[in-house]
Amino acid sequence: MKQCPLCKSENIKENLYEKQKVFTSIGKLYLNPNTKSITSSINLCQCQDCGYIYNKNFNIENIQKEYSSDDYVLKKNISAVMSSKMKAVIKTIEPYINNKTIALEIGCGNGDLSCILAPKVKTLFAVDPAKEAKFLSSIDNILFINAFFTAENIAPYINCKIDVIILRHLLEHIDKPTELLNTIDKYTKLNSVVYIEVPNADEIISSARFYDIFHDHFAYFERNTLLNKMQEFGFELVDETYYHKNQHMGLLFKKTMKYISKQTITLYDCIDFDKFNDNINRLNQILSSYNKIAIYGAGAHGNSILNYLTDENKNKILFAFDRDTTKQDKYLQSSNIQIVEPVKNYLSNIDVIVMASSLYEDEIVDNLRQIYEGDIILTATEIRIV
Ligand SMILES: [Zn+2]
Repeated sequence: MKQCPLCKSENIKENLYEKQKVFTSIGKLYLNPNTKSITSSINLCQCQDCGYIYNKNFNIENIQKEYSSDDYVLKKNISAVMSSKMKAVIKTIEPYINNKTIALEIGCGNGDLSCILAPKVKTLFAVDPAKEAKFLSSIDNILFINAFFTAENIAPYINCKIDVIILRHLLEHIDKPTELLNTIDKYTKLNSVVYIEVPNADEIISSARFYDIFHDHFAYFERNTLLNKMQEFGFELVDETYYHKNQHMGLLFKKTMKYISKQTITLYDCIDFDKFNDNINRLNQILSSYNKIAIYGAGAHGNSILNYLTDENKNKILFAFDRDTTKQDKYLQSSNIQIVEPVKNYLSNIDVIVMASSLYEDEIVDNLRQIYEGDIILTATEIRIV
């Protein structure tokens, strides 16, 4: 019998949402066109006791192969909105740090947040299996640990309790969340705080944003599932911040060891996910009447949206626009869609742009409107032509 990876319950609702043949990791871009990537599949289940939503078809071997490949592209901090988001994250954490604080960022990615945080604390441990943040080692009070965060991997480096732990966009990738949370629990003490930021499942499902369901993510969290789980370790929710119109939620927990009664969880039904298929069909239907299509956003969402387009529509896509110069001239997965800068030269040849950058949709459309007059299809909260 299958058990919930978060609470071990066997009361699981399976087959809430299924999709065959999706890219194993949408974080990859290629130097050559039509480079095939390994595909995997999705079958979302929800634990009826704790509310945890996860992909029972998650293929850890496939994902590890993809993450260790050279084509993996990390997000660059290019958007003005993204920088203001980083400021908002710091603002949430700031009341809990001072020059005596021992901090730990698990999954520090390209090191952006650790860089900003380091001058504000005494010591910062930054952990990530990728090498992008290796430059952090040159900062005096940072110890960069180039490994997956497991009890065995970090034991040689960290032998003290931690005051502030940060996990941004990590927990949704983990297929053994209980092991991770157990390790975090062991490194915390009374009044330690843990900041957890994850995509907001409730918002994804109510917006029926189908391309936010992809194989890189093992799990999808709604607020109260996390609250109840953290409560088991004695953590109380003390602050919460929502970013990008509720698409991301940042929950700040403090270890108070207070007893708090369980919060009601949201249980979803297949009907909730039928709306995803309605949006997929609607988008494909709209695109069938255009000839020269472009995607805006060559990040994770750009690749992910391709998983859901018909071959006929995919073949009509000429470009993927992105301002990130490290992505330009590369190709989206299993396609001949080249990534180019959003400039007039390319835009003048396009009939319609499909937005695949839900976090920054408003900001991008405002900018596009200054140089492009054709149709734009919004996708963040509804499929709509503007
Ligand atoms: Zn559960």
